[in-house]
Amino acid sequence: MLGAAGPAGAQDLAAEAAAVRDKALSDPTAWRIVESLTTEVGARPVGTAAMARARDWALAKLASLGFENVRAEPFTTKAWIRGEESAEVVAPAPQKLRILGLSGSAPTPKGGLTGEVALFPTYQAMLDQPAGALDGKIAVVTQAMTRTQDGSGYGAILAQRAHGATEAAKRGAIAYLVRSLSTMQTRAPHAGYADYAGIPAAALSPPDAEQLERLAALGKPVSLKLVMASTVDPAATAWNVVGEIRGRERPDELIVVGGHLDSWDPGTGATDDGAGVAITTAAARLATLHARPRRTIRVVLWGSEEQGGSGSAYAAAHAAEVGNVVLAGEADIGAERVWRVALPAAGRDHPAVKAFLAALAPFSVVVSPDPAVRGGADVDGLVQAGAPVVQVAQDASRYFDFHHSADDTLDKIDPKALAQATAVWASLLEVVANSDVDFRPRGASSP
Ligand code: ZN
Ligand code: ZN
Repeated sequence: MLGAAGPAGAQDLAAEAAAVRDKALSDPTAWRIVESLTTEVGARPVGTAAMARARDWALAKLASLGFENVRAEPFTTKAWIRGEESAEVVAPAPQKLRILGLSGSAPTPKGGLTGEVALFPTYQAMLDQPAGALDGKIAVVTQAMTRTQDGSGYGAILAQRAHGATEAAKRGAIAYLVRSLSTMQTRAPHAGYADYAGIPAAALSPPDAEQLERLAALGKPVSLKLVMASTVDPAATAWNVVGEIRGRERPDELIVVGGHLDSWDPGTGATDDGAGVAITTAAARLATLHARPRRTIRVVLWGSEEQGGSGSAYAAAHAAEVGNVVLAGEADIGAERVWRVALPAAGRDHPAVKAFLAALAPFSVVVSPDPAVRGGADVDGLVQAGAPVVQVAQDASRYFDFHHSADDTLDKIDPKALAQATAVWASLLEVVANSDVDFRPRGASSP
């Protein structure tokens, strides 16, 4: 029997949430989705032919899983596309370095550029330099990232990757290198978003950053040669791929969840964000275990998270229905177990929320006392427009070992952890889609 909205149905809802959770723990759908995406499409950088193949893959996958109203919603966005790249120490001890250009990087002149290194052990040390202090230099920041369960170590030094080239250029630098935002000592650098600062900008693998520190410590000038040949498509076409499980009673009330379909180019985008695509898509399917839900579950596979654009494109295209969004969320923090959940402030005492929390009990998940404020870059636009948001936090302790690098591949995903994350999302979708719980702040919902 299907759970009803009122107190009489609360027990049913709790039983159904638990059943969905248990089914998810042994269900192979999420694993099969991420295996299929990373194998049959591979890397999916926006602005490339691979992104169009990812769109076709997503349309076919959602249709084959029984989603309705499956469609690709096109938008245009600026896309940076990697070309040839190399870096080497010219003096005092010639040797190759491992780099990966950051999006927004300018190409070097044909044949490359050579310059003397100005090395800073912290980002702040570079920011402390006055204008002109880096004239003609290749600025290098070697500050390392801290490993944390909640991923906060990444946010703490994100600026050195995202804005470092801009700050270096302001001070006269001709190029900028930054130690990868990585928690792994491998020579696979991590790609990532950066400003279009007008100078070449690249990430150094952690061992290479440390090598440059030792070379600089010798006291002789260190000079590097960089060759980078990226291109930019100012108006690349990308797609948000959408599929729905239409609600049987209140189809206009929408639960909007998903992951991002695009990825960086070096790996196969397995944990970032093939996992999120797989978790939310499989969870939506699992939430229909008992029957067609009362409300509509809409899965969105956003098409340009890494270089930006898909969240704002989605919010603009769906501005008229924001008041109907009863909950929004994105899975974009890897493939590990969920350890913390933050819900919207409203609706917390509702039986549906209690049913969800009961389903979580075996997982020792922390329920945040604070309401969720963000749910992922692709739902920021919806949240700013007033949609309630959930944050389902997966353990990020190992996420930054591989994310954005050549090692972000399927073998890094533990199927059991993926199933746990899917079970959490599936129980959440089950209770929200089959109840009248309203997370929308009073007055914000449409009639
Ligand atoms: Zn991501
Ligand atoms: Zn990413």
